[in-house]
Amino acid sequence: MIEIQDLHKWFGDFHVLNGIDLTVARGERIVICGPSGSGKSTLIRCINRLETHQRGRIVVDGIELNEDLKQIEQVRSEVGMVFQQFNLFPHLTVMQNCCLAPIWVRKVPRREAERTAMEFLERVRIPEQADKYPGQLSGGQQQRVAIARSLCMNPRIMLFDEPTSALDPEMIKEVLDVMVELARDGMTMICVTHEMTFARTVADRVIFMDEGEIVEASPPETFFERPRQERTRAFLSQIL
Ligand code: ATP
Ligand code: MG
Repeated sequence: MIEIQDLHKWFGDFHVLNGIDLTVARGERIVICGPSGSGKSTLIRCINRLETHQRGRIVVDGIELNEDLKQIEQVRSEVGMVFQQFNLFPHLTVMQNCCLAPIWVRKVPRREAERTAMEFLERVRIPEQADKYPGQLSGGQQQRVAIARSLCMNPRIMLFDEPTSALDPEMIKEVLDVMVELARDGMTMICVTHEMTFARTVADRVIFMDEGEIVEASPPETFFERPRQERTRAFLSQIL
């Protein structure tokens, strides 16, 4: 579903991604962890071309990401992304946030878009907040709106970049619960997170990145109980 081969990226002279190889199958759930600055965000941002790469290949559902704008649009329409800072439109209600792209990009009739939005708001357990503005919601609620808004575009892949790290501890679980459900429903997911309980529960593979490279990639049991690389062990001893 996602094929990344020998991916390299530089910011100026800085070699931020140094030969990433990663294949993600349909329905697979990947958790990426690693120290700050190791290139995790950059890697997942390359997957929907929020960043461009300079060498290597990224193919999403058979479509290669290159200069072709039509192909970029096609890939973006299949890939939902949720960020650490929820990135909701503050001047739109929850419902309007969810319906904007379906109506204007997908040309879905408003009534139908609203019906779909309500289904997803129910799924993330905040249907009663539909008419509020983001500023009237807690961080956890805003992040669940961001997830619902992504799902309204019917993505085949969801990317999460530290979706819980801006949240107060008591709100982390309500967002993770939604993500666990999504995973159980078979969504293909790549999640950058340091929530290791989440990784153990849902990940098919946990990936440890350091200095722009994938240092280790294994199923959670192996990753946590018998990490192969010294750098992984050192990292785990800091965060667990
Ligand atoms: P964190 O855990 O802190 O989110 P990360 O693993 O997600 O870190 P990235 O955000 O991918 O790391 O950044 C990797 C490196 O690239 C960092 O050293 C960062 O300073 C640098 N970098 C990121 N974006 C840019 C940019 N637009 N221009 C220049 N350098 C950048
Ligand atoms: Mg990051």
